[in-house]
Amino acid sequence: MTRSVAIVGGGIAGLLTGHLLQRDGHRVTLLSEQRPDDLRNGPIISTQCVFGPRLRPERGAGLAFWDDTAPVIANGRLSIWLEKQCVLDWSDALLDSPAQSVDHRMKLATWMEALNDADGATVQHRTVDQIALEALTAEHDLVLVATGRGCELFRRNDELSQHTEPQRQIAAVYLRVPDHAGDVDTIRWSIVPGAGELLVVPALTFTGPCHAVVVEALPGGPWDVWRDRPRSGELWERIRELLRDVPREHEALAGRTLTDDRAALSGAITPIVRHPVAVLPSGRAVLGLGDAVVTNDPLTASGANSAVTAAAMHAAATTEHTGAFDAEWMQRTHDAWWTAPGGGRDATTVANTMLNPPPQLLERLLSSTNDHATLRKFTGIIETAEDTDWLLSP
Ligand SMILES: Cc1cc2nc3c(=O)[nH]c(=O)nc-3n(C[C@H](O)[C@H](O)[C@H](O)COP(=O)(O)OP(=O)(O)OC[C@H]3O[C@@H](n4cnc5c(N)ncnc54)[C@H](O)[C@@H]3O)c2cc1C
Repeated sequence: MTRSVAIVGGGIAGLLTGHLLQRDGHRVTLLSEQRPDDLRNGPIISTQCVFGPRLRPERGAGLAFWDDTAPVIANGRLSIWLEKQCVLDWSDALLDSPAQSVDHRMKLATWMEALNDADGATVQHRTVDQIALEALTAEHDLVLVATGRGCELFRRNDELSQHTEPQRQIAAVYLRVPDHAGDVDTIRWSIVPGAGELLVVPALTFTGPCHAVVVEALPGGPWDVWRDRPRSGELWERIRELLRDVPREHEALAGRTLTDDRAALSGAITPIVRHPVAVLPSGRAVLGLGDAVVTNDPLTASGANSAVTAAAMHAAATTEHTGAFDAEWMQRTHDAWWTAPGGGRDATTVANTMLNPPPQLLERLLSSTNDHATLRKFTGIIETAEDTDWLLSP
Protein backbone atom coordinates (compact mmCIF):
# COMPACT_ATOMS: atom_id res chain seq x y z
CA MET A 1 0.00 0.00 0.00
CA THR A 2 1.57 3.27 -1.12
CA ARG A 3 1.52 6.06 1.46
CA SER A 4 2.45 9.71 1.26
CA VAL A 5 5.07 10.54 3.89
CA ALA A 6 6.67 13.89 4.71
CA ILE A 7 9.95 13.90 6.61
CA VAL A 8 11.31 17.09 8.16
CA GLY A 9 15.09 17.08 8.57
CA GLY A 10 17.94 15.99 6.32
CA GLY A 11 20.26 14.31 8.83
CA ILE A 12 20.98 10.60 8.93
CA ALA A 13 17.64 9.84 10.64
CA GLY A 14 15.49 11.68 8.08
CA LEU A 15 17.47 10.74 4.98
CA LEU A 16 17.81 7.03 5.76
CA THR A 17 14.12 6.78 6.64
CA GLY A 18 13.28 8.59 3.40
CA HIS A 19 15.35 6.19 1.30
CA LEU A 20 13.95 3.10 3.03
CA LEU A 21 10.37 4.31 2.52
CA GLN A 22 11.06 5.22 -1.12
CA ARG A 23 12.51 1.75 -1.67
CA ASP A 24 9.28 0.29 -0.21
CA GLY A 25 7.26 2.20 -2.81
CA HIS A 26 5.96 5.13 -0.77
CA ARG A 27 5.79 8.75 -1.95
CA VAL A 28 8.34 10.67 0.08
CA THR A 29 8.80 14.41 0.52
CA LEU A 30 11.83 15.37 2.57
CA LEU A 31 12.19 18.94 3.81
CA SER A 32 15.64 20.13 4.70
CA GLU A 33 16.76 23.60 5.63
CA GLN A 34 20.18 22.70 4.22
CA ARG A 35 21.06 22.10 0.58
CA PRO A 36 23.69 19.52 -0.38
CA ASP A 37 26.24 22.28 -1.00
CA ASP A 38 25.47 23.89 2.37
CA LEU A 39 26.47 20.60 3.95
CA ARG A 40 29.57 20.16 1.78
CA ASN A 41 30.78 23.69 2.45
CA GLY A 42 29.86 23.73 6.12
CA PRO A 43 31.67 22.70 9.28
CA ILE A 44 32.00 19.09 10.43
CA ILE A 45 28.95 17.79 12.23
CA SER A 46 30.00 14.57 13.89
CA THR A 47 32.55 11.77 13.86
CA GLN A 48 29.70 9.51 12.68
CA CYS A 49 31.23 6.09 13.35
CA VAL A 50 28.56 3.56 12.42
CA PHE A 51 29.17 0.06 13.73
CA GLY A 52 29.02 -2.96 11.44
CA PRO A 53 25.56 -4.24 12.39
CA ARG A 54 24.13 -0.72 11.90
CA LEU A 55 25.47 -0.43 8.35
CA ARG A 56 23.00 -3.04 7.10
CA PRO A 57 20.02 -0.70 6.51
CA GLU A 58 22.06 1.70 4.37
CA ARG A 59 23.53 -1.22 2.41
CA GLY A 60 19.98 -2.58 1.95
CA ALA A 61 18.87 0.78 0.61
CA GLY A 62 21.77 0.89 -1.89
CA LEU A 63 23.43 3.79 -0.08
CA ALA A 64 26.81 2.27 0.74
CA PHE A 65 28.69 4.46 -1.74
CA TRP A 66 31.98 4.48 0.22
CA ASP A 67 32.62 0.79 0.93
CA ASP A 68 35.65 0.79 -1.40
CA THR A 69 37.18 4.03 -0.14
CA ALA A 70 36.36 4.45 3.56
CA PRO A 71 38.81 3.01 6.10
CA VAL A 72 37.71 -0.40 7.34
CA ILE A 73 37.52 -0.14 11.14
CA ALA A 74 38.05 -3.71 12.25
CA ASN A 75 39.64 -3.22 15.67
CA GLY A 76 39.11 -1.39 18.91
CA ARG A 77 41.69 -0.28 21.44
CA LEU A 78 40.82 0.87 24.96
CA SER A 79 43.37 2.45 27.27
CA ILE A 80 43.15 4.02 30.70
CA TRP A 81 45.78 6.60 31.70
CA LEU A 82 46.69 7.82 35.17
CA GLU A 83 49.33 10.53 35.55
CA LYS A 84 50.53 9.92 31.99
CA GLN A 85 51.01 6.19 32.67
CA CYS A 86 48.99 3.63 30.79
CA VAL A 87 47.32 1.44 33.45
CA LEU A 88 45.13 -0.56 31.08
CA ASP A 89 45.77 -1.24 27.42
CA TRP A 90 43.41 -3.47 25.51
CA SER A 91 44.45 -3.71 21.90
CA ASP A 92 43.25 -5.91 19.06
CA ALA A 93 39.68 -5.95 20.23
CA LEU A 94 38.28 -7.31 16.99
CA LEU A 95 34.89 -5.82 16.22
CA ASP A 96 32.18 -8.30 15.24
CA SER A 97 31.98 -6.68 11.82
CA PRO A 98 33.86 -3.62 10.53
CA ALA A 99 32.59 -0.17 11.38
CA GLN A 100 32.74 2.85 9.06
CA SER A 101 32.88 6.63 9.40
CA VAL A 102 32.17 8.77 6.35
CA ASP A 103 32.19 12.56 6.87
CA HIS A 104 28.52 13.47 7.21
CA ARG A 105 29.13 16.54 5.05
CA MET A 106 29.76 14.16 2.13
CA LYS A 107 27.45 11.36 3.11
CA LEU A 108 24.33 13.39 3.81
CA ALA A 109 24.82 15.65 0.77
CA THR A 110 25.11 12.59 -1.50
CA TRP A 111 22.15 10.83 0.10
CA MET A 112 20.07 14.01 -0.29
CA GLU A 113 20.83 14.22 -4.01
CA ALA A 114 20.15 10.49 -4.44
CA LEU A 115 16.77 10.83 -2.72
CA ASN A 116 15.78 13.77 -4.88
CA ASP A 117 16.68 11.73 -7.97
CA ALA A 118 14.74 8.65 -6.85
CA ASP A 119 11.30 7.80 -8.25
CA GLY A 120 8.45 8.99 -6.07
CA ALA A 121 10.66 11.18 -3.86
CA THR A 122 11.41 14.89 -3.71
CA VAL A 123 13.61 17.04 -1.50
CA GLN A 124 12.49 20.58 -0.75
CA HIS A 125 14.85 23.07 0.82
CA ARG A 126 13.11 25.16 3.42
CA THR A 127 12.78 25.58 7.16
CA VAL A 128 9.58 24.05 8.42
CA ASP A 129 7.80 26.06 11.12
CA GLN A 130 4.65 25.11 13.04
CA ILE A 131 2.33 26.50 10.34
CA ALA A 132 4.14 24.57 7.64
CA LEU A 133 4.07 21.48 9.82
CA GLU A 134 0.28 21.74 10.11
CA ALA A 135 0.05 22.02 6.32
CA LEU A 136 2.22 18.92 5.91
CA THR A 137 -0.01 16.88 8.21
CA ALA A 138 -3.04 17.92 6.14
CA GLU A 139 -1.34 16.90 2.88
CA HIS A 140 0.36 13.63 3.89
CA ASP A 141 -0.64 10.33 5.48
CA LEU A 142 2.30 10.53 7.90
CA VAL A 143 4.69 13.26 9.03
CA LEU A 144 7.99 12.33 10.65
CA VAL A 145 10.15 14.95 12.37
CA ALA A 146 13.91 14.35 12.41
CA THR A 147 15.22 17.85 12.99
CA GLY A 148 18.03 16.92 15.38
CA ARG A 149 18.81 17.92 18.93
CA GLY A 150 17.11 20.83 20.68
CA CYS A 151 13.72 20.11 19.09
CA GLU A 152 11.29 21.74 21.51
CA LEU A 153 8.27 20.40 19.63
CA PHE A 154 8.66 17.22 21.67
CA ARG A 155 8.32 17.58 25.45
CA ARG A 156 11.09 16.39 27.76
CA ASN A 157 10.36 13.04 29.36
CA ASP A 158 11.37 13.83 32.95
CA GLU A 159 11.16 10.21 34.02
CA LEU A 160 13.60 8.95 31.40
CA SER A 161 15.96 11.96 31.20
CA GLN A 162 18.84 11.63 33.66
CA HIS A 163 20.54 14.95 32.99
CA THR A 164 19.69 18.63 32.97
CA GLU A 165 23.16 19.83 31.94
CA PRO A 166 25.89 18.79 29.54
CA GLN A 167 28.11 16.09 31.02
CA ARG A 168 31.08 16.93 28.81
CA GLN A 169 32.57 19.86 26.89
CA ILE A 170 33.14 18.36 23.46
CA ALA A 171 35.68 19.16 20.77
CA ALA A 172 36.35 17.37 17.49
CA VAL A 173 38.87 17.78 14.68
CA TYR A 174 39.64 15.84 11.51
CA LEU A 175 43.34 15.27 10.92
CA ARG A 176 45.22 14.22 7.81
CA VAL A 177 46.72 10.75 7.95
CA PRO A 178 50.34 10.48 6.84
CA ASP A 179 51.30 7.43 4.77
CA HIS A 180 53.24 5.89 7.62
CA ALA A 181 50.47 6.16 10.24
CA GLY A 182 49.80 2.87 12.01
CA ASP A 183 46.48 1.63 13.39
CA VAL A 184 44.42 2.95 10.49
CA ASP A 185 41.93 0.14 11.03
CA THR A 186 41.54 0.78 14.77
CA ILE A 187 39.17 2.99 16.73
CA ARG A 188 41.11 4.14 19.78
CA TRP A 189 39.48 5.11 23.02
CA SER A 190 41.53 6.57 25.87
CA ILE A 191 40.12 7.36 29.29
CA VAL A 192 41.86 9.79 31.63
CA PRO A 193 39.92 9.68 34.93
CA GLY A 194 39.28 13.18 36.22
CA ALA A 195 39.96 14.78 32.82
CA GLY A 196 37.82 13.05 30.19
CA GLU A 197 38.02 10.76 27.20
CA LEU A 198 39.64 10.82 23.79
CA LEU A 199 38.41 8.97 20.73
CA VAL A 200 40.39 8.58 17.53
CA VAL A 201 38.24 7.28 14.67
CA PRO A 202 39.57 6.36 11.21
CA ALA A 203 37.27 8.16 8.79
CA LEU A 204 36.85 9.29 5.19
CA THR A 205 36.59 12.97 4.30
CA PHE A 206 36.88 15.01 1.09
CA THR A 207 40.67 14.79 1.09
CA GLY A 208 40.71 11.02 1.67
CA PRO A 209 41.27 8.96 4.82
CA CYS A 210 41.63 10.96 8.03
CA HIS A 211 41.49 10.55 11.78
CA ALA A 212 38.42 12.07 13.40
CA VAL A 213 39.44 13.00 16.93
CA VAL A 214 36.90 13.72 19.66
CA VAL A 215 37.81 14.99 23.09
CA GLU A 216 35.22 14.78 25.84
CA ALA A 217 36.24 17.06 28.71
CA LEU A 218 34.74 16.74 32.17
CA PRO A 219 33.20 20.11 33.10
CA GLY A 220 35.55 21.99 35.41
CA GLY A 221 38.36 19.48 34.79
CA PRO A 222 41.81 20.14 33.33
CA TRP A 223 40.63 19.52 29.75
CA ASP A 224 37.71 21.97 29.94
CA VAL A 225 39.49 24.59 27.83
CA TRP A 226 37.32 25.49 24.81
CA ARG A 227 34.24 27.19 26.23
CA ASP A 228 35.26 30.36 24.37
CA ARG A 229 34.75 28.36 21.11
CA PRO A 230 38.17 28.98 19.52
CA ARG A 231 38.67 28.87 15.76
CA SER A 232 39.72 25.59 14.17
CA GLY A 233 43.51 26.03 14.25
CA GLU A 234 43.50 27.29 17.84
CA LEU A 235 41.18 24.46 18.91
CA TRP A 236 43.57 21.86 17.47
CA GLU A 237 46.47 23.59 19.28
CA ARG A 238 44.64 23.28 22.60
CA ILE A 239 43.74 19.64 21.99
CA ARG A 240 47.34 18.91 21.06
CA GLU A 241 48.48 20.38 24.37
CA LEU A 242 46.17 18.26 26.51
CA LEU A 243 47.17 15.12 24.60
CA ARG A 244 50.29 15.20 26.78
CA ASP A 245 48.13 13.33 29.32
CA VAL A 246 47.91 10.46 26.80
CA PRO A 247 51.54 10.21 25.66
CA ARG A 248 50.92 7.55 23.03
CA GLU A 249 48.33 9.71 21.26
CA HIS A 250 50.47 12.81 21.72
CA GLU A 251 53.18 11.06 19.77
CA ALA A 252 50.85 9.42 17.21
CA LEU A 253 49.14 12.71 16.36
CA ALA A 254 52.25 14.93 16.50
CA GLY A 255 52.69 17.07 13.43
CA ARG A 256 49.21 16.34 12.09
CA THR A 257 47.23 19.09 10.38
CA LEU A 258 43.52 19.67 9.93
CA THR A 259 42.03 18.19 6.77
CA ASP A 260 40.37 21.56 5.98
CA ASP A 261 39.63 24.82 7.73
CA ARG A 262 36.10 23.68 8.66
CA ALA A 263 37.27 20.40 10.20
CA ALA A 264 36.75 21.44 13.82
CA LEU A 265 33.84 21.84 16.21
CA SER A 266 33.32 22.49 19.89
CA GLY A 267 30.23 22.56 22.05
CA ALA A 268 28.27 20.74 24.68
CA ILE A 269 25.20 18.53 24.54
CA THR A 270 22.62 17.96 27.26
CA PRO A 271 21.49 14.34 26.99
CA ILE A 272 17.70 14.21 26.87
CA VAL A 273 14.84 11.83 26.21
CA ARG A 274 11.67 13.41 24.86
CA HIS A 275 8.11 12.23 24.34
CA PRO A 276 8.08 11.07 20.70
CA VAL A 277 4.61 12.23 19.65
CA ALA A 278 3.54 15.87 19.32
CA VAL A 279 -0.11 16.72 18.81
CA LEU A 280 -0.50 19.94 16.83
CA PRO A 281 -3.26 22.55 17.46
CA SER A 282 -5.30 20.91 14.67
CA GLY A 283 -5.32 17.66 16.66
CA ARG A 284 -3.14 15.91 14.09
CA ALA A 285 0.01 14.21 15.36
CA VAL A 286 3.62 13.94 14.18
CA LEU A 287 6.21 11.35 15.18
CA GLY A 288 9.80 12.26 16.05
CA LEU A 289 12.94 10.20 15.57
CA GLY A 290 16.70 10.54 15.83
CA ASP A 291 18.25 13.23 18.00
CA ALA A 292 14.96 15.16 17.90
CA VAL A 293 13.62 12.63 20.38
CA VAL A 294 16.62 10.98 22.06
CA THR A 295 19.89 12.89 22.30
CA ASN A 296 22.85 11.21 23.93
CA ASP A 297 26.37 12.43 24.52
CA PRO A 298 28.59 11.18 21.66
CA LEU A 299 30.99 9.43 24.05
CA THR A 300 29.75 5.98 23.07
CA ALA A 301 28.93 6.81 19.44
CA SER A 302 25.28 6.10 20.04
CA GLY A 303 23.53 8.93 18.15
CA ALA A 304 23.88 8.01 14.49
CA ASN A 305 23.79 4.31 15.38
CA SER A 306 20.48 4.81 17.19
CA ALA A 307 19.13 6.96 14.37
CA VAL A 308 19.82 4.08 11.98
CA THR A 309 17.90 1.56 14.09
CA ALA A 310 15.01 4.01 14.43
CA ALA A 311 14.97 4.67 10.68
CA ALA A 312 14.91 0.95 9.88
CA MET A 313 12.21 0.10 12.43
CA HIS A 314 10.01 3.13 11.72
CA ALA A 315 10.18 2.54 7.96
CA ALA A 316 9.29 -1.15 8.37
CA ALA A 317 6.40 -0.30 10.73
CA THR A 318 5.09 2.27 8.22
CA THR A 319 5.14 -0.24 5.38
CA GLU A 320 3.43 -2.96 7.44
CA HIS A 321 0.65 -0.69 8.70
CA THR A 322 -2.57 -0.47 6.74
CA GLY A 323 -4.62 1.83 8.97
CA ALA A 324 -4.36 5.50 9.86
CA PHE A 325 -1.10 6.78 11.30
CA ASP A 326 -2.63 8.13 14.48
CA ALA A 327 -0.96 9.13 17.75
CA GLU A 328 -1.50 5.64 19.16
CA TRP A 329 0.34 4.01 16.23
CA MET A 330 3.12 6.56 16.59
CA GLN A 331 3.62 5.87 20.29
CA ARG A 332 3.55 2.09 19.63
CA THR A 333 6.11 2.44 16.85
CA HIS A 334 8.43 4.50 19.04
CA ASP A 335 8.01 2.13 22.00
CA ALA A 336 8.91 -0.88 19.84
CA TRP A 337 12.20 0.87 18.93
CA TRP A 338 12.84 2.19 22.44
CA THR A 339 12.47 -1.26 24.06
CA ALA A 340 14.07 -3.40 21.30
CA PRO A 341 17.39 -5.05 22.21
CA GLY A 342 20.01 -2.49 21.23
CA GLY A 343 17.24 0.10 20.73
CA GLY A 344 16.87 3.60 22.16
CA ARG A 345 16.66 2.62 25.83
CA ASP A 346 19.76 0.41 25.64
CA ALA A 347 21.78 3.00 23.70
CA THR A 348 20.83 5.60 26.31
CA THR A 349 21.87 3.26 29.12
CA VAL A 350 25.27 2.65 27.50
CA ALA A 351 25.85 6.37 26.93
CA ASN A 352 24.80 7.44 30.43
CA THR A 353 26.72 4.59 32.10
CA MET A 354 29.97 5.45 30.35
CA LEU A 355 29.52 9.16 31.15
CA ASN A 356 29.58 8.27 34.85
CA PRO A 357 30.99 4.74 34.99
CA PRO A 358 30.24 2.98 38.26
CA PRO A 359 33.44 2.27 40.26
CA GLN A 360 32.91 -1.50 39.98
CA LEU A 361 32.95 -1.25 36.18
CA LEU A 362 36.25 0.65 36.15
CA GLU A 363 37.70 -1.86 38.63
CA ARG A 364 36.51 -4.74 36.48
CA LEU A 365 38.10 -3.20 33.39
CA LEU A 366 41.35 -2.43 35.22
CA SER A 367 41.66 -5.97 36.55
CA SER A 368 41.00 -7.64 33.24
CA THR A 369 44.15 -6.95 31.20
CA ASN A 370 44.67 -9.86 28.80
CA ASP A 371 41.20 -11.18 29.60
CA HIS A 372 39.97 -11.50 26.06
CA ALA A 373 36.42 -12.53 26.99
CA THR A 374 35.89 -9.34 28.99
CA LEU A 375 37.37 -7.27 26.20
CA ARG A 376 35.06 -8.85 23.62
CA LYS A 377 32.05 -8.41 25.88
CA PHE A 378 32.77 -4.73 26.43
CA THR A 379 33.40 -3.87 22.79
CA GLY A 380 30.35 -5.94 21.80
CA ILE A 381 28.16 -3.81 24.07
CA ILE A 382 29.51 -0.59 22.55
CA GLU A 383 28.92 -2.00 19.04
CA THR A 384 25.40 -3.30 19.52
CA ALA A 385 24.13 -1.58 22.70
CA GLU A 386 22.85 -5.01 23.76
CA ASP A 387 23.37 -6.82 27.11
CA THR A 388 23.73 -3.50 28.89
CA ASP A 389 23.11 -5.15 32.30
CA TRP A 390 26.73 -6.36 32.14
CA LEU A 391 27.95 -2.77 32.49
CA LEU A 392 26.07 -2.32 35.75
CA SER A 393 26.57 -5.77 37.26
CA PRO A 394 28.84 -6.06 40.33
C1 LIG B 1 31.35 15.56 18.03
C2 LIG B 1 30.30 14.52 17.75
C3 LIG B 1 30.70 13.23 17.44
C4 LIG B 1 29.74 12.24 17.20
N1 LIG B 1 30.17 10.99 16.87
C5 LIG B 1 29.26 10.01 16.65
C6 LIG B 1 29.69 8.72 16.28
O1 LIG B 1 30.89 8.44 16.11
N2 LIG B 1 28.74 7.76 16.07
C7 LIG B 1 27.42 8.03 16.25
O2 LIG B 1 26.60 7.13 16.10
N3 LIG B 1 26.98 9.27 16.57
C8 LIG B 1 27.88 10.26 16.76
N4 LIG B 1 27.45 11.52 17.06
C9 LIG B 1 26.00 11.78 17.13
C10 LIG B 1 25.40 11.87 15.74
O3 LIG B 1 26.15 12.74 14.92
C11 LIG B 1 23.96 12.36 15.83
O4 LIG B 1 23.29 11.63 16.82
C12 LIG B 1 23.22 12.16 14.51
O5 LIG B 1 23.92 12.78 13.46
C13 LIG B 1 21.82 12.75 14.63
O6 LIG B 1 21.17 12.64 13.38
P1 LIG B 1 19.73 13.26 13.17
O7 LIG B 1 19.36 12.96 11.76
O8 LIG B 1 18.81 12.84 14.24
O9 LIG B 1 19.91 14.83 13.39
P2 LIG B 1 20.84 15.92 12.59
O10 LIG B 1 22.03 15.30 12.02
O11 LIG B 1 21.01 17.03 13.56
O12 LIG B 1 19.92 16.37 11.39
C14 LIG B 1 18.82 17.22 11.55
C15 LIG B 1 18.63 18.00 10.28
O13 LIG B 1 17.38 18.68 10.33
C16 LIG B 1 17.56 20.00 9.84
N5 LIG B 1 16.51 20.84 10.44
C17 LIG B 1 16.43 21.25 11.72
N6 LIG B 1 15.31 21.97 11.90
C18 LIG B 1 14.68 22.03 10.69
C19 LIG B 1 13.48 22.63 10.25
N7 LIG B 1 12.68 23.31 11.09
N8 LIG B 1 13.14 22.50 8.94
C20 LIG B 1 13.92 21.80 8.09
N9 LIG B 1 15.07 21.19 8.46
C21 LIG B 1 15.44 21.30 9.76
C22 LIG B 1 18.97 20.38 10.29
O14 LIG B 1 19.49 21.43 9.52
C23 LIG B 1 19.70 19.06 10.06
O15 LIG B 1 20.19 18.99 8.74
C24 LIG B 1 28.36 12.54 17.28
C25 LIG B 1 27.96 13.85 17.56
C26 LIG B 1 28.91 14.84 17.80
C27 LIG B 1 28.45 16.24 18.11
